[in-house]
Amino acid sequence: MDTTNMPKSRSEAKALGAKFYFTGEACTRGHVAPRKTKGACIECVKEDWAIDNERRKAKPKSEAAKAAGRRYYEKNKVLVKARANARPVEERRQHRQKHRQNHPDIYKALVSVRKRRHREATPKWITAAQKLEMRKLYLTAMQLTKVTGVRHVVDHIVPLISPVVCGLHVPWNLRVITQDENLKKSNKLIDTPSTT
Ligand SMILES: [Zn+2]
Repeated sequence: MDTTNMPKSRSEAKALGAKFYFTGEACTRGHVAPRKTKGACIECVKEDWAIDNERRKAKPKSEAAKAAGRRYYEKNKVLVKARANARPVEERRQHRQKHRQNHPDIYKALVSVRKRRHREATPKWITAAQKLEMRKLYLTAMQLTKVTGVRHVVDHIVPLISPVVCGLHVPWNLRVITQDENLKKSNKLIDTPSTT
């Protein structure tokens, strides 16, 4: 917040009808920051907000609150997803990690579904060399994710599950793309790097 043209005292701010003033002196918590004409130093307000938020997040949610959250999500899916995607990469990574820790069962189930799908879509006549080729693609995806910081995944060019034609789990149906590209595809099967 630009303090240069702010009133220097509360009385001055009141007289001018300004929302903020700036004395240049530290508050009781040591912030040198503008203060609201109606109350506290803005940095103190931010701190109190953060403490409140943490406290609220730490409390277990009531069933009603959970239901309200689900309703909001269903109504505003596009917005919620866009907001989440706009967050910094590191924040998103931590969020994913936390979600994974809190819901190990979901991820176990996802992995086993994926493994089964891959198994069922792998023809019997596949050679060991072709299997190795596929494994290498998954390694490439992991390495690209590490090096670029952008999540890369292995995509089935023709989806394994599709109403039209089902693809195979074979090297020539696989390619490495970013997760964002993958999510743009109509088939929303998330295929994260893993060996098959
Ligand atoms: Zn303060």
